Amino acid sequence: MTEVLIRERRGAGGAVLWLTMNRPEVRNAQDSALIDALSAALRDADDDDDVRVVVLAGAGDHWSAGHDLKAIVGEAEPDRWRLMRATPEGKMLHEQRMYVDRCLELYHFRKPTIAAVQGACVAAGLMLATMCDLIVAADDAFFSNPVLRMSGAGVELLVEPWELGVRKAKEFLLTGDAMPATEAERQGLVNRVVPRASLVEAVTELADKVARVPPITAQMVKGSLNQTSALQGKENAWRHHFFVHHFTHNTATAQRMLEERQAKSSMREVLADRDRGDVPGAAAVPTPAPAVEPTTPPVPPPAPAERDPVVPVLDRHIP
Ligand code: ZN
Repeated sequence: MTEVLIRERRGAGGAVLWLTMNRPEVRNAQDSALIDALSAALRDADDDDDVRVVVLAGAGDHWSAGHDLKAIVGEAEPDRWRLMRATPEGKMLHEQRMYVDRCLELYHFRKPTIAAVQGACVAAGLMLATMCDLIVAADDAFFSNPVLRMSGAGVELLVEPWELGVRKAKEFLLTGDAMPATEAERQGLVNRVVPRASLVEAVTELADKVARVPPITAQMVKGSLNQTSALQGKENAWRHHFFVHHFTHNTATAQRMLEERQAKSSMREVLADRDRGDVPGAAAVPTPAPAVEPTTPPVPPPAPAERDPVVPVLDRHIP
């Protein structure tokens, strides 16, 4: 069976652990198996004193398109988490355990972490990337959280104000527009942008540099920086947002969107209807041309919404 998460030791003395999400056929959509594999790898890496830095990468053209919607509402065999989502309280417990707690494991991971991002970094993909301490983006990377367009209150952790500032976060979330890598660097969301062909080399160089800091020092300073954010209210704000997110999950509007998604073959169709103004209560919204053309697999003939680089990856996303 194909490993959903590949583990490789690199760098001097194997000090850098590369974890590569390996579901390229679904743009590294995060299902329960991938989330569990990442959690297990982090626990092992925590126990291994030779691991000083962890890199989180994605196989294929895209880093991660979000949570795996098809595993939640699609044809896939239901797992215990999916069955739990039949009630609001079950849905909340699923997302607390599998989304929030697992993201916080990565955020609070003792050792420094680096995300090596290419292509789509969307919704829960963006949430996951921002759990890492450093982010290096390929020049074809784009960042987006289009969940408001699908009725959801973003994803489980509201990372945007901490990454972009409140003003830009409002624009980013309320429009659902994609942000190209160069703009993400300007906003401070990523540390640097490198040519797609140099991504591995650039991350290797950065990871080696971080690995040369005495581990206890690196870990203490990381913890202190996270504590600074905590004192600024980051985790309290996240706690508040998680309740906002769940209230919005269970509104009549959200239920109707979910039913539509289940009735259609893809979220792309639901959004195409909405953008034409066919969904009751949803105003038609013009979809601007993207600032950059991301690399995406072939998609059906262009409809208006197709010009948005995010739409082709939405099928895989669950708010
Ligand atoms: Zn959710």
